[in-house]
Amino acid sequence: MSLEFVLATHNPKKVREFQRIIGERMPQAVVHPYEGPEPVEDGVTFAENAVIKARAAAAHSGRIALADDSGIVVDVLGAAPGIFSSRWAGHAGSDEANVRLLLDQLADIRRPNRGAEFRCTIALVVPEALLPGGHEFVAEGRWRGNLAYEPRGSHGFGYDPIFEPEGLEVTSAELAPAEKDARSHRAQAFTELLPELERVSARIGG
Ligand code: IMP
Repeated sequence: MSLEFVLATHNPKKVREFQRIIGERMPQAVVHPYEGPEPVEDGVTFAENAVIKARAAAAHSGRIALADDSGIVVDVLGAAPGIFSSRWAGHAGSDEANVRLLLDQLADIRRPNRGAEFRCTIALVVPEALLPGGHEFVAEGRWRGNLAYEPRGSHGFGYDPIFEPEGLEVTSAELAPAEKDARSHRAQAFTELLPELERVSARIGG
């Protein structure tokens, strides 16, 4: 079953992960980058922001749109950084600055109080032009672990160098890409989304 959609994600490292995951699970899909205007992400949950991005991409492109919003949720910080993960050290911050700030904030916190989880929400929006009444669906993946004391590993991006997935003694930046894809929050969200994408594809005759 073939399917074409727009992927409204600009972070090149996230796009690469999505391309790997989609290539593995839905190799027949044709994925277009979204090149329209960026909406204001003024939602207060991952799901709200993912839906905002997917609606904008569907409206602009006239195609089925997928958008993700993701981040890290730290137990002792009451679920922060959460939706602020990419700008935790400020709007001009980098992955390295975000990691440094988080490590600094948790400097006095020892195990077992360094629990955290990655979350990924993917929104699917089908424009009315393709399906009468349109259609929306939201999938979520979670990946539990602990924060390391120092960054380790060179794969992945963002908080990967300080995230030790539950049951492993390495960080997610020390996992090979395929090993991360077998477990990650992003892959889990895509697993939940896949049957819905197939249903949509069947309904619009893809
Ligand atoms: P978004 O692009 O606004 O959804 O921001 C997501 C942010 O969450 C990224 O900039 C990373 O800091 C963090 N993040 C999300 N997923 C991952 C992951 O798989 N590994 C490491 N960091 C992640």
